[in-house]
Order: sequence, then C-alpha cells, then structure tokens
Amino acid sequence: MRIVLLGPPGAGKGTQAKRICETYNIPHISTGDIFRENMKNDTPLGQKAKEYMHKGLLVPDELVVEMVEERLTYEDVLSTGYGYLLDGFPRTVFQAGALCDINAKKDCELTLAINLEVPLDILIERVTNRRICPKCHETYHLKYNKPKIEGICDFDGTALYQRDDDKIETVQKRIQIYQDETMPLIEFYEDKQKIININGLQHMSDVFKDIKKVLSGVN
Ligand SMILES: [Zn+2]
Repeated sequence: MRIVLLGPPGAGKGTQAKRICETYNIPHISTGDIFRENMKNDTPLGQKAKEYMHKGLLVPDELVVEMVEERLTYEDVLSTGYGYLLDGFPRTVFQAGALCDINAKKDCELTLAINLEVPLDILIERVTNRRICPKCHETYHLKYNKPKIEGICDFDGTALYQRDDDKIETVQKRIQIYQDETMPLIEFYEDKQKIININGLQHMSDVFKDIKKVLSGVN
C-alpha cells in the first residue's frame, strides 16, 4: 500500500499516520525525518541541503525528491512490497510528478492520496488553544481537554506552555502557506482520480474508521 497523507497543521495528521501505518504495516516516512537523518549522518544529500538552509533558502524540489527516492530504497519499504505512507511529501506538483516517476520505475503506482479536511476557523481554534507539558509532552486543549488545574500538567505538575508555532499569527500564516501549496496538489490528484477527502472534523477514531473503509475498498 502506497499512501500520501495531506492535511493542514492541526488536522490530526500525526495520529492518523500512526494508525494507518500500524494497521497496514507500512513505514511512516516523513520528510522532516529524512532531512534530519541526512543531516545528522552528514550524507552528500544532507550536506547539500544544509548549504541551502544556511543561506536561508528553501531546499529545491530536485534535492527533496532525491532524498525521498533514496529513502524509498530502504528495507522497510522493500519488505512491504514497496509500501509507504508519505507525510510532508509531495509538497508541490513537481514533487508529485516525480513521485509518479519513482513509482513507475518500480512498476507500481500510488494507492491513494488521503486528504484530511478541516475548516479554517476550526483549525485555528484547535491549534491556538493547544497547550503542552514540556516534561511528559501531554497535549491539552483549553476548551475540550482542560488540565484539572489551570496551566498545570495533570501528570507531573509542570507548567504548560504554548509552542511558538501555535500562536495565532503563526498559525494563520502556516495554514495560508499550506493552502496555497496544497490546492494545486489536490487538483493534480483529482485529475488522476487518486484523492479521497476525509472529514477531519470528527473524533479521531471516526476519522480513522472512514480511512479504513476507503482503504479496504482498494485492497
Ligand atoms: Zn506532564
């Protein structure tokens, strides 16, 4: 099974990615992890990526594609019949096209792109009300999942904090960037009839039930 998971920040992508990968026994491949690995191990690709980042430039599509293609040669991908769930890739239509080519070289194609849909105002509410415990990493929500004592972790009494990424101006910007980037990508997969939109407003387990229903149909 070969899955691309799309969804804005705050749509619950991490949770769904984990469940899909456990249920269908495919590796969870996030571009963030690939970048970190390459840089940590100082690979030639990692060195190139670092040069761009040091200059404050975006890592070019070609380089991102190279890193993903290399990652897709690992044992966990090969041993699952060229299976994967990609998270954070593709980000552009160029990258999506490149993924088609990579798959074609292996005589396979993408199973589906799963798009978690959540309305903008709800996303903003979800993310800006998030508070995190720096010690145990438990996540709280100021309205729907409040700590017993305001501002304090239930488990270890540590003061909760808000990630800079979760502040409203940052969130609005991240979501805007996401939408600008993703619209063409969604159209790309619509053209290929490879996209499934899932209502991300539901409870996490219902979102997963919907995903499972779709995936059982393609298997
Ligand atoms: Zn805690």
